Amino acid sequence: MQHFINVILPIPLEKLFTYSVTRAEANFLKVGMRVAVPFGKSKIHTALVAEIHTTAPTLYDAKDIHQILDDEPIVTELQIKHWSWVAKYYMCSVGEVFRSAVPGAFLLESETLILKNSEATVDENTLTDEEFLVFEALERQSMLKVQEIAAIVDKKNVLPILKRLLDKNVILTKEEVYQQYKPKLVRYVKLGEKYQTEEELSALLDSLSRAPKQSNVILSLFQLQGTNQKKITVKELEKKSKSSASIIKTLIDKDILEEFYVRTDRVVFDATKKTKQLKELNKYQTEAIQEIKASFKEKKVTLLHGVTSSGKTEVYVQLIAECLAEGKQALYLLPEIALTTQLIARLQNYFGEYVAVFHSKYTVNERVEVWNNVLANKSKAQIVIGARSALFLPFSNLGLIIVDEEHEASFKQYDPAPRYHARDSAIVLASFSNCNILLGSATPSIETYYNVKQQKYGYAQITRRYGNVLMPEVELVDIKELTRKKRMKGHFSERLLLGITEAVQEGEQVILFQNRRGYAPIVECTTCGHSPQCPNCDVSLTYHQYKKQMRCHYCSYHMALQKSCLACGMSTLNTKGFGTEQVEQELQELMPNLRIGRMDLDTTRGKHAYEKIITSFEKHELDVLVGTQMLTKGLDFGNVSLVGIMNADNLLNFPDFRAHERSYQLLAQVSGRAGRAQKRGKVLIQTYNPYHQILQQVSTNDYEAMYTDQINERRLFKYPPLHRILKITFKHRDYGKVEGASAWFAKSLRVSFKDDVLGPEFPAVARIRNQYLKNVVLKIKKDQPLGKTKDYIKKIEKSFNSIGQFKGVRVIYNVDYI
Ligand code: ADP
Ligand code: ZN
Repeated sequence: MQHFINVILPIPLEKLFTYSVTRAEANFLKVGMRVAVPFGKSKIHTALVAEIHTTAPTLYDAKDIHQILDDEPIVTELQIKHWSWVAKYYMCSVGEVFRSAVPGAFLLESETLILKNSEATVDENTLTDEEFLVFEALERQSMLKVQEIAAIVDKKNVLPILKRLLDKNVILTKEEVYQQYKPKLVRYVKLGEKYQTEEELSALLDSLSRAPKQSNVILSLFQLQGTNQKKITVKELEKKSKSSASIIKTLIDKDILEEFYVRTDRVVFDATKKTKQLKELNKYQTEAIQEIKASFKEKKVTLLHGVTSSGKTEVYVQLIAECLAEGKQALYLLPEIALTTQLIARLQNYFGEYVAVFHSKYTVNERVEVWNNVLANKSKAQIVIGARSALFLPFSNLGLIIVDEEHEASFKQYDPAPRYHARDSAIVLASFSNCNILLGSATPSIETYYNVKQQKYGYAQITRRYGNVLMPEVELVDIKELTRKKRMKGHFSERLLLGITEAVQEGEQVILFQNRRGYAPIVECTTCGHSPQCPNCDVSLTYHQYKKQMRCHYCSYHMALQKSCLACGMSTLNTKGFGTEQVEQELQELMPNLRIGRMDLDTTRGKHAYEKIITSFEKHELDVLVGTQMLTKGLDFGNVSLVGIMNADNLLNFPDFRAHERSYQLLAQVSGRAGRAQKRGKVLIQTYNPYHQILQQVSTNDYEAMYTDQINERRLFKYPPLHRILKITFKHRDYGKVEGASAWFAKSLRVSFKDDVLGPEFPAVARIRNQYLKNVVLKIKKDQPLGKTKDYIKKIEKSFNSIGQFKGVRVIYNVDYI
């Protein structure tokens, strides 16, 4: 009998692939193990075993696998089930989910290695200088990677050189699979085997009497051992003996010391940090917990709707503690942007080393470790805090999922596939794992609140801030009026400047919010109206004063700021609009003594950049923090009494059906940073349009009114949560192809979906990185069977793919796009 496996390959093809295995291999393999398999001409891919069986494929001869990569499954069957759901719902392949779910290091890559051809006799005189360099390097090292060769000849493209060497029979190539994950090894030392008896030891010390530095090292080693330490690292020894690495090395070379390596985890938690008992919950928090638990009993997804600073986090902490006490795993999902050290530290205070963190700023190796710890159900990873991808970890014993800030748009992955919504996928995961799930927010998404109203979800509410601090007082500042009366200084109203002065005089801090980074969004010539555009994308470049640069926020293009207009040559360039950088600078000019910091994408690159800004604001080294929406998320600063919103209008005027919901959420969240401790906070919102209904609702903290308005509009215009929406994007370098393809597709959809098809339409930025984009949107009625609709669309795509003139046009599905 022949044996086969069906595997998931990390590629966008929808089906599973069948390979043949020996009987022994079939017996050894389990679902969830990785195998290396040949694919295409000479590629080796990492694949995941999904089924083991004895049915030969009918359409092709199954190839043999290359090798088995695991002793035990690294992915659970539950994960495969969940990933399959994600793939089906979001219209991508399971392979794409696989690829984005596992840390990169798990996907062995095939890479070309270059070897010396030992059979050939090479006449060195026939080689060019560069060829000779490579040849010589291969004499010394048996194998080299292509990049290494590039480094040797100091050239980016070495393929022509390699090709000539191949033709001359000097080298061979080898497709090799290599593993990227390297466990971290710590270097330890101990006294050499020889010196275990006292006699030999004293003889040794005698012999070292003329090498005081060396004997000092040995004595320090004894001292460290005396303090009951079992293993001593080279680092510790170096520190203790105040000596150098070279002295220790000398001792190792002389066999007096012996070195050895031990594998350790990269992310180590300092156990002394765990300091706190759980807080005793107040009446409102306790009531909320009771409601949540009652709802969990009914197996319901539950929403905790608590105003900013009502103590939601402490409620989560309590629920996590109870989950842990039952011996189960807890997952705490947050938008990437809110995953701050502040929150992590808060949880570590309570749960110490049970907390593991999983997000994109961690290295591949750190992520592998969290993966392995979760898989092994280690106590170290009993609680995982992470951004959306933490959802794909190999939990086996999940008891609770918390989705904090559930309304955040960044829970939806935009690019690449799978374009999944982490909150919704978490709800499915919870149902597959039979575990509880709590969504939390001060400003729930319309979707979630609708589900509450429909009694599909359970609900708990906290309407008061912790400690009975009042909700901040919101004041709308009419800058249209003030501009007319000439009572603006730059972008600051006198009202706002006064507020800042007063707060700082009281020793309090201020947050200023502006939704754009950079100095000014646009530079425009006042003579001819031209503004510099990105050559690769259809957007204007943004001016960044600090570097005197014009930058594209869609690709990495940048250029130096021009002195005169590129179109007409006049030196009448002027900035239009303003960003965080300009807010910071203007304020500094107006109030030179103020200590101002800035938090936006530009100032928070790198792993610890966030932390530094937040810490220095916490320590009151800054009076004012200027930032983009980054600073709205989950930050808890006790001393902020004033929040200023520089301009609310650019939020409200966004051409999107969610713009109003978003504006409400954003403004309410930023406002929520004010007055979290004792004193009532103040929020000043500068706007040209103080009578706008959303601003009125923000100022009266009337979520319910906002919801009612929004749900009526959504019903009227057939948007979620009353309809599902699917966006299909067509993408190609050629404008005409995108036009033709999207028109053809929309027409085919209209045959059956009629008026529920919108477009095709170009998005606001219709070209990114030289690729044109055009969208078709399909509104799907709630009672329309979703699976069938998608199958139907896929059928259309099949016909589409067979049309020659559309070849190369990418079709991208975004289900429930936001
Ligand atoms: P939210 O998550 O709803 O914005 P937090 O959980 O951050 O609110 O709580 C706001 C502040 O109140 C925090 O500083 C927190 O430490 C404090 N706090 C909340 N609940 C309690 C409690 N039961 N006992 C003591 N302090 C609390
Ligand atoms: Zn660009």
